[in-house]
Amino acid sequence: MQTIQHSEQTLKTALISKNPVLVSQYEKLDAGEQRLMNEAFRPTSGLFGPITLHSQSDWIISHPEAPQDFEEFFSDPYRKTPSPEKHSIYIQSIGSLGNTRIISEEYIKWLKGYCEAFFYGLTVKLLEPVPVSATRCSFRVNDNTQNLQIHAGDILKYLKKKKPEDAFCVVGITMIDLYPRDSWNFVFGQASLTDGVGIFSFARYGSDFYSLHYEGKLKKLQKTSPIDYSIFDNYYIPEITSVLLLRSCKTLTHEIGHIFGLRHCQWLTCLMQGSNHLEEADRRPLNLCPICLRKLQCAIGFSIVERYKALVRWIDDESADTPGVTPKHSRKDKENLPKPVEAFKEWKEWILKCLALLQK
Ligand SMILES: [Zn+2]
Ligand SMILES: [Zn+2]
Repeated sequence: MQTIQHSEQTLKTALISKNPVLVSQYEKLDAGEQRLMNEAFRPTSGLFGPITLHSQSDWIISHPEAPQDFEEFFSDPYRKTPSPEKHSIYIQSIGSLGNTRIISEEYIKWLKGYCEAFFYGLTVKLLEPVPVSATRCSFRVNDNTQNLQIHAGDILKYLKKKKPEDAFCVVGITMIDLYPRDSWNFVFGQASLTDGVGIFSFARYGSDFYSLHYEGKLKKLQKTSPIDYSIFDNYYIPEITSVLLLRSCKTLTHEIGHIFGLRHCQWLTCLMQGSNHLEEADRRPLNLCPICLRKLQCAIGFSIVERYKALVRWIDDESADTPGVTPKHSRKDKENLPKPVEAFKEWKEWILKCLALLQK
């Protein structure tokens, strides 16, 4: 196992920069925020550590990219920033996300609540869920995996047309697998940064996708007609587990991070690290490293303490989508459907350590 170990000076420059304007901007940050971010270049930091490489198929080895430090992010003329007029992240679910309507509705509310805490200060809104047929997208049965797939580019065109006036971005989410073009096997997601739209599938994040007994396989000879979407009715949806929720939250925030202009992180272990396969995606943490955190803070303008507190509230509130608003156990008319947050507990401990340092 290799590690990508940058010198303290390299990390300090990546975070603070040598540009006097950005240095003085950094020095104006709250003392606690600087204390936390300075952990980036403290070698004994228990909060942030170097990226580890486990195999030749890991992202950094197979996709060499130029690293992006804070200054490069700051001065990127093409990156999109939310404005008072375009201040909302919209989530559009395509097809059912859960095996019952209630699970599907709750699941998308959990994701909304998570994004609201993660992109603290922006509004996250849900568009009315639509069936696959509403998008008029192309679809196919994958020859290798025999599961249903929908065409990512067609979905992006659909989302672009639907994009509301006040949208910073619209992200589509689906439990159906995606393909970008006929010659490709699959894709986890696809986004257009210029249009501020993205589509991400959680189909492969279920516990069974890669198992022999995956139930999303269709009979090989099943014919599909390009205009008959009835094949999607009652199509297999993985069970919503805590791990699936965690993977979905991670993907969604990583991908929306790209829409803000954050490129793949090569500095420290970080949510914005690229990932080539599921094992590598699982290895990357839910949190941003200080360099990526400064980028996001610069784009949105949140207080880091308030943002972390909102994330802890989301983890603590096992039932409500909007932390602190819906009282627990009050919805007698609904199934008892607690948010499966077990997989987030370790992360919560990490956030609490950050809060302690921020508020010292
Ligand atoms: Zn990425
Ligand atoms: Zn990072």
